Amino acid sequence: MEYYVLTLFPDMITDGLHTSIIGRAIEDGVLSLEAVNIRDYTLSKHGKTDDYPYGGGAGMVMQAQPVYDAFMSIRNRIDYNPRVVYLTPQGKVFHQDMAKELALEKGIVFLCGHYEGVDERVLDEIVTDEVSIGDYVLTGGELPAMCMIDAISRMIPGVLHNNESAEDDSFGDGLLEFPQYSRPEIWRDRKVPAILLSGDHAKVDAWRREQSLIRTAERRPDLLENAVISPKERDFIRKYLANKNEL
Ligand code: SAM
Repeated sequence: MEYYVLTLFPDMITDGLHTSIIGRAIEDGVLSLEAVNIRDYTLSKHGKTDDYPYGGGAGMVMQAQPVYDAFMSIRNRIDYNPRVVYLTPQGKVFHQDMAKELALEKGIVFLCGHYEGVDERVLDEIVTDEVSIGDYVLTGGELPAMCMIDAISRMIPGVLHNNESAEDDSFGDGLLEFPQYSRPEIWRDRKVPAILLSGDHAKVDAWRREQSLIRTAERRPDLLENAVISPKERDFIRKYLANKNEL
């Protein structure tokens, strides 16, 4: 996977992503990451990349020319049409299935906005996908791009090592993950659930599955509709919630 990030703050991207698991995958050559500084492509003598909005109003708008030329500096040296993701609170909200789908691409270009956003004409010209990371407004698209790159990369074979498997993670099967515990067995009078110490793998799996169902029903009931759940499990959730409501 080749990631290209068009940004006014390239250090933020490279500093943020060259650590831990994603940093290791870049070093291993499973991923490549290039942060392209949009400012390097401005034709303005003073290095300007933004200007006042036509029609008035607060803030500045990133101009089309430097963004387009920065994008073309990538497009002219690769032999395919990459997906170009503009990070914006106005986009489709990012989720795990989108991460899985994007993980199949050969390369992705991310465009990070700043200030009031980017001149609409260059978005019309180059962007294939508009994506939001949630219903709130950040100062720039760098953190959203990093979130997307991290989530997409975890879906690429070779990025996670065996002991970091994504299989059980939340959303993997449409449910939230079960609770996790580590040493010691008792901490501040709180005990690890006995079943996890039993050594009976079938019972541990059954308990974890039950916990996933309960957590999802309590915290994110909206996920249950599309999750892969047997009729018996649906019955279990119904009874669990009915019992709880009676208490
Ligand atoms: N004026 C824009 C609006 O109301 O839609 C918001 C601009 S925001 C202050 C500056 C930049 O941050 C955006 O261009 C976008 O790249 C990024 N951004 C902010 N919030 C975001 C979110 N929730 N998801 C993705 N990108 C976001």
